[in-house]
Amino acid sequence: RNIGRFRKAGYQAIDRICDYYYSLEDKPVVAQVEPGYLRKLLPDAAPETGEPFQTIADDFQKQIMPGITHWQHPSFFGYFPTASTLAGTIGDLYASSVAGPGFNWLCSPAATELEAITMDWAAKLFGLDEVFMASSLKGGGVIQPTASDSCLTAVVAARSRFSKLHPETHLQNLVIYGTTMTHSLGAKAALILGLSFRALEVSRDDAYGLRGETLQKALREDRAAGKIPFILIATIGTTSSCAIDNITEIEQAVKEYPELWIHIDAAYAGVTLTCPEFREMCHLDAINRFAHSFCTNFHKWGLVNFEASGMWVRDRTLLTDALDVTPEFLRTKHSEEGTVIDYRNWQLALGKRFRALKLWFVLRSYGAEGFRAHIRKGIKQAELFATRIRESKKFEIVAPPSFALVVFRIIGSVNEGSPPPSLAQLNSLNRIFHQRVSARPDIFVIQTDIEGMYCMRFVPGAERTEDKHIEAAVRLFEEEATKALQEWEA
Ligand code: PLP
Repeated sequence: RNIGRFRKAGYQAIDRICDYYYSLEDKPVVAQVEPGYLRKLLPDAAPETGEPFQTIADDFQKQIMPGITHWQHPSFFGYFPTASTLAGTIGDLYASSVAGPGFNWLCSPAATELEAITMDWAAKLFGLDEVFMASSLKGGGVIQPTASDSCLTAVVAARSRFSKLHPETHLQNLVIYGTTMTHSLGAKAALILGLSFRALEVSRDDAYGLRGETLQKALREDRAAGKIPFILIATIGTTSSCAIDNITEIEQAVKEYPELWIHIDAAYAGVTLTCPEFREMCHLDAINRFAHSFCTNFHKWGLVNFEASGMWVRDRTLLTDALDVTPEFLRTKHSEEGTVIDYRNWQLALGKRFRALKLWFVLRSYGAEGFRAHIRKGIKQAELFATRIRESKKFEIVAPPSFALVVFRIIGSVNEGSPPPSLAQLNSLNRIFHQRVSARPDIFVIQTDIEGMYCMRFVPGAERTEDKHIEAAVRLFEEEATKALQEWEA
């Protein structure tokens, strides 16, 4: 009986999801509701008796949908993209149907084996060295929920490695290194683990990336002061401006510090490695030579539905040494024989979702060619946007376009003979501009701060974004810039 109900409700859900995508462009990009809107609509407690499925599905449309921000909207240019594709959705649906926690190989051999295989496929697609592949029996890939989990896992493994090498170390002296541009995941890992985080300065001359000499100086200073930097979170594609830390220089700088774990956070930009033209700028050769762990989120620009963060390690025993806690009830014959991967020892949680299935659907349905085409489309659209912004007299590009991110701001009109506006004045103008743009239902961009400058980030990358949406965004910005300038000058 239940299966019959599922068939009916399932067909209807698919129909409604299709209608959703057809009508996506007519919806406001950001939910137009006030905080607490949903509590006013829903009862105080779950119903005592079950309700008809149809009623719940209808309430989803009426009550939940208005509170949804449409990340798949073609004019969503905020944050970084978060994917939802047909292939990813279908893969996820099948994964839900066979739901199992996948912590040991025995939980569902296919779930573990597919994860190892698809992560090897992805490693090949990105040009990662064989050592990062499970087939090497040395390293391998694991799908973590998010880049924050990947980073925290790397930090835990690095700490464990360091204290095994130096059992005399006082943990309170351990320092996590990142930069002023590192995502908050670095500081958060430090907070969770009770360690300190040092944000190294980035170089303006190197498009806000970390230089080798800055790192070397900090290492010397800290070691002389009794501090022990044990992991560096280097970023390829920072959140604010998509800066790239100079991994090649970093490789030289850490030659005397072999105990320093290098984790590469390429949460957003790592998927560009599918395209050979990005490999040099992403320092792929250096990553392949010396990084301990590498992370990129398939769920951002990589066509796989949220969440699926790819993490690869050069040496899998560094994860399992740190994370293997095996009570009797988790022992299995295959684990004891060492013939299988038990992913519970590669991650923080015990259970894991069958994320490899959606990755498998995506990699097979797009193929390497389709994946590359998707990345190149985003890059081209960012270039188109940057060209239009440069053509306009109202704006300037603040950080050079990097991957598909363009950071820009309005520049005030300068009357002949009057001094150029100060930074504070420009910031207030840009705040007005951003407030005006944010009040519009037909676009979404967010702000950032680069060296005290209030700027806008523009990132195409959603699958449904076409060039016409980029052109429309430029027209909208021009319009709002004119009004912001009038408001500012009034
Ligand atoms: N790293 C970078 C560079 C990011 O830009 C982001 C999010 O935008 C993250 C990490 C965090 O990703 P997650 O939400 O998967 O933890």
